Order: sequence, then structure tokens, then C-alpha cells
Amino acid sequence: MPFLAADPGQLRWSNRFHRLGAEHHTELGPQALPQPHWVATSPDCAAWLGLPPDWADWADSDGGDSLSVLAGNRLWPGMQPLASVYSGHQFGQWAGQLGDGRALMLGELQTPNGPVELQLKGAGLTPYSRTADGRAVLRSSIREFLCSEAMQALGIPTTRALALVGSPLKVRRETIETAAVVTRAAPSFLRFGHFEHFAHTADNVAALQRLADMTIAHHYPELQDQPQPVVALLAAVTGRTATLMAQWQTVGFCHGVMNTDNMSMLGLTLDYGPFGFLDAFDPHHICNHTDQQGRYAWSRQPGVALWNLHALAQALMPLIRDSDAALAALEPYKTQFPQRLLDGWRAKLGLRFDADRETAAEREADRLLADGLLRLMAQDRADFTITFRRLARFSTEPGAANDTLRDLFIDRAAFDAWGLRYAERLRAEASTDAERALRMNRVNPKFVLRNHLAETAIARAREGDFSEVQRLLKVLQHPFDEQPEAEADAGFPPDWATHLEVSCSS
Ligand code: AMP
Ligand code: MG
Repeated sequence: MPFLAADPGQLRWSNRFHRLGAEHHTELGPQALPQPHWVATSPDCAAWLGLPPDWADWADSDGGDSLSVLAGNRLWPGMQPLASVYSGHQFGQWAGQLGDGRALMLGELQTPNGPVELQLKGAGLTPYSRTADGRAVLRSSIREFLCSEAMQALGIPTTRALALVGSPLKVRRETIETAAVVTRAAPSFLRFGHFEHFAHTADNVAALQRLADMTIAHHYPELQDQPQPVVALLAAVTGRTATLMAQWQTVGFCHGVMNTDNMSMLGLTLDYGPFGFLDAFDPHHICNHTDQQGRYAWSRQPGVALWNLHALAQALMPLIRDSDAALAALEPYKTQFPQRLLDGWRAKLGLRFDADRETAAEREADRLLADGLLRLMAQDRADFTITFRRLARFSTEPGAANDTLRDLFIDRAAFDAWGLRYAERLRAEASTDAERALRMNRVNPKFVLRNHLAETAIARAREGDFSEVQRLLKVLQHPFDEQPEAEADAGFPPDWATHLEVSCSS
């Protein structure tokens, strides 16, 4: 039922951002992208948007209509493209005005899941492009496209990606590359930086208030009746950020550029650049080659998130006007994050717990058990994803050797000692190996987007073969399934991958 191809006029668009006021954005259309071609589409994202399940098929057969819209070469009726302005702290320093330098919001599509903003990333120059070219390269666009959909499948809040379009248009980075456009989708791309902009750069309290009111009305309507809705907003963003950080940490995800302009007001993973998943476990792993100080190392992400929340609180001060109230809204992070993190580790270890009844001592014992495994993994550089996946096959039978897991560790005696503690803890809750394994395989992914997998897909795509991007997407959309045909994607990274460097260049 190709309703969209037959009649894009049937799509319903709105644009709440548009109504905010001229201080918030600039209306402009995308720049033409020469000779666009499909690289990949996400049927899963299409389904979320309420598009027909076979959209990729009809998108191919609609005479190029969808392709030209998602390349930025024409608009469907109802779209009101705009670039928004924001500011932000980058690597701990105030960076002043930034903004959608290469992203254009096309409008909000009315979907069965509520209004969803569609954005073209890499759609050309905007008033916020500064000295850059408004484009995104195929390499980084493939990474963003794949990882957005992979994170969604992992159950981690994220912006989505509907489509990826390539072009022979040349773009200069360290070398000459080609351009691409990702169609991103999210209920909102609002960033901490949008608020920082009106507090610090524009110094416009009325515009700040309108932004806060819009955010609350549309994205946190339950807060409207609170005595101090903006304080409640800060507390809600704090809570969502704490949850997100616990999820990033327990899946071994490193964002790479946790600047305040890359922090979502909805607690979504936002702006995929030099991200990475942990291979050999090193808590101090820095995935972004540009981040020489390791500000955004894996172990530092939760602390940086709190630093960023302080920046958001500072930006909201003209509205809150009570620093004690603002600090009180941030305070729960210090208990919420560790609690959710511990719950995440326990789920990964297959430990059951009753949050309402357990004692502090029981919680602490579980924390030490998880911590003990992480310490061993760090000491022996055990592969993060493979270790947790193999843990599901741990046998509590007395005398079981658990060789496949044990082989990941150099210090076998230390592993054995930990294994005894783990088995004891499992027996204490009468855990059965088969039931626990099923449960653990639903939280410990077999497949994550390791750098070398993305790199292989990128290398093929540069030669005009997009089948690896499409194949990887399918694998990553079912990260917890065994998928024996994709066994190679679940293996250790090859030697050449240890030298891969991913930087901010995109
Ligand atoms: P990022 O590091 O991708 O989060 O980008 C930081 C800021 O620089 C954002 O305001 C981006 O829109 C902008 N930016 C990054 N790359 C480009 C580019 N190629 N052209 C225009 N603006 C860009
Ligand atoms: Mg960004």
C-alpha cells in the first residue's frame, strides 16, 4: 500500500519549533545534493513512523520522489524546513553560539507514536555552519545510521535513522570524501545547548521561557501542574540522563563527544560521531582520537553527564531563580545513577533482586560481585561484549570448569575464585542455569557495532557496494538473537582494528 508514494500529501506535518519565535531558528531549505542514490533504509524506523512496512520497496519505485526529498532536493507539501540555534560547552569550555550547522528539521510528522521530528543531517549550509561546509561524509553517516538503529534494538533511548542517501559530491576532510545525508527521527532533537543559548549567548529570558514552556507542554506534559515546572523539568531530565548513563555503561558504549550541545533534553543518545563500543575492557578507554585528555573516556561518562546537567541547571537559573531548588533537582542523580547502574550489572549477571525488600548489605554484596568481575576483565583486558555473553553459559554445577568463559582470563586462579563467589550467590537464590541463561541472553547482546564492523561496511560502500551496510543493519536489529549465520560479527576484533582511530572529523 504505497500511500506515501502515491500521495505524500496524506502525510500530516506540524512544526512546534516553528511557532517558538524567530530567535529560535532560521527558515531555509536544504541545498541540492547532486546525483543522490540510496545507501540504506531502516524498515524498523519506518514502522515506528507509521510508514508502510514495504516502504523501502515503494521508495524505490516512486520515480525517485522519496529519494529526492530525503536527499534534500525537494520538499513534500507541509514540510517547513528550519535550522535551530543553540550554544554549548565543548570539552569543558564555553563555545558560544553553535546551532544546526548541517542539519535541517523538515517538520514533525504525525505518527501513531505521536509527533516525530524528521531531520536531514548533511543537508548543506545554514546560518550556523560557521566556517564548515554543511555536509556530512558517507563514512560518518554510515556510522550514525547503523548505530542509531543498533542502539534502538538494544533498548537504549536514542534518536533514530530512517534512511541514508549518498552522492558523488566531493567533501574535503583530512582527505577528499563523498557526501551523504541521514534522515534522522526523534520526538525532539532539543539539546541542553538550546537552553544555554538563550541564557548566555542571546541573554533573552522571554525566549528561554518560551522554550521551556514548549518543552514541558509537548515533551513533559505531566509536569505542567507542578508548583515549579522548570525545576520539575530539570529533575526529569536528570532522571532520564541517569538512566541513559547506566545503559551506556552496562552495554560498553562510549559516546566520544559529550559536549552539552550533544546532550538530549529527552535523555536520548544524540549525535553519533566518534563513538565506540568497548572491545578489550579498559575502563579508561577513549574512543575519540581528538579527545587527548580523555575527558570523555568510558569511566568518566557518568560524571561528565552530571557536569552537563549542572550546565543545564545554570542555563535554567533565569527561570528558576533559586539555586537551592536547582541543585536539589540535580541531587537525585547521585543515587539514581548508581542504583540503575547496579541494577544493570545485576541483570547482566543474571542476579535476581527485590528492590523493595533487599537490605543495603545485599545490594553492596552484589555491587562487589559485579565490581570483582569488572576488575578481572580490566586486568586481563577481557572482551566486554564476549565476556558477558559467555557468562550466560556459566554452570553452577560443583566442579564445572566453565572453560569458554575462563579462557578469556589470563589469571585463571583469580577467575576461579570469582566464579566460586558467583556460583554461591546464584545457588543462594536457587537460580537454574537454563532459565538464567535465557534471561541473560536478553540483556547481554551478542552483536554490537564494533568499529571494525562499521569500517568494513564503510570500505565496501566507498566502492559502491552498500550490501554490507544493509546486512549489518539487519544483524544489529536483533542484537540478542544467536544469528549463527552472522557468527563472524560476534567475534573478537581483528588485529588491524586495534589501530583504528576515530576522530571528530565527520
Ligand atoms: P558536532 O561535533 O558534529 O556535534 O558539531 C558541533 C557543531 O558544529 C554543531 O553545531 C554542528 O552543526 C557543527 N558542524 C559540525 N560539522 C559541520 C559541517 N560539516 N558543516 C557545518 N556545521 C558543522
Ligand atoms: Mg553535535
